[in-house]
Amino acid sequence: MSLTFTNRTALVTGAGRGIGKAIAETLAKNGVTVICVSKSADSCGATAAAIIAAGGKAKALAVDVADGAAVAKAAEELLKEFPLIDILVNNAGITRDGLLFRMSETDWNDVISTNLSSCFHWTKHLARPMTRARWGRIVNITSVSGIMGNAGQANYSAAKAGMIGLTKSLAREFAGRSITVNAVAPGFIKTDMTTDFVNNPEVSAKILETVPLKRFGEAADIAAATAFLCSEEAGYVTGQVFAVDGGMAM
Ligand code: NAP
Repeated sequence: MSLTFTNRTALVTGAGRGIGKAIAETLAKNGVTVICVSKSADSCGATAAAIIAAGGKAKALAVDVADGAAVAKAAEELLKEFPLIDILVNNAGITRDGLLFRMSETDWNDVISTNLSSCFHWTKHLARPMTRARWGRIVNITSVSGIMGNAGQANYSAAKAGMIGLTKSLAREFAGRSITVNAVAPGFIKTDMTTDFVNNPEVSAKILETVPLKRFGEAADIAAATAFLCSEEAGYVTGQVFAVDGGMAM
């Protein structure tokens, strides 16, 4: 099935690497203009340059999504250039793993502000034009950890579960304006975030015991699900958590 996007502009956070990069490139291949956000100018710049080199339309924007004031300023500037950003993909995320008794308050706060509060800030600033246009797509990249919990990831699981609550509440708030809000919950996907596990044969064998499909996922698997939820065809899907996890959370 080909996906329909009519003259759409998207903002994808964490587009410099891994899953966010794959989402940005997939949307761009479908004709969407993509604003690629990451923390470092180099990584979002490289993604935007690759999209442009492939014939697509993109802009790079380096901003720390954990900094609410910086997001507000960036959004204000962006809306002067792009009065309507129709699609928002909140994908930027970090891990600071550790068992609770060893978890510092900084590790707790950094993960909550980067993974969860960032979604609040971006949505607050970009959703108003969507409400006026009576069309919008918001996709929050959560995790199986937010559904099942994970020992050693109290901060990350709490942030990802929070994203699911945010998704469902905003789906109800925005439904009257034809803005859909969904979450995608990846399982173990091969990116920089999981290199240490994937490249350790003992750890990866243990992880794969919990994955019914017995393999790690690819960033492209998450990009395909996300692109569908952003498309015209997904207009009757809202408030859902779409697990793309090899069957882990079923
Ligand atoms: P990744 O390879 O580590 O890439 C993370 C991206 O997020 C990078 O582009 C990074 O920017 C950006 N980022 C991090 N903190 C930021 C900040 N404060 N401000 C702006 N950008 C920031 O991660 P990934 O594996 O692709 O993960 C993407 C999302 O999927 C995350 O939310 C993650 O929790 C979720 N997820 C991943 C997996 C998995 O197995 N990989 C599983 C479940 C959920 P820079 O490039 O500038 O560093």
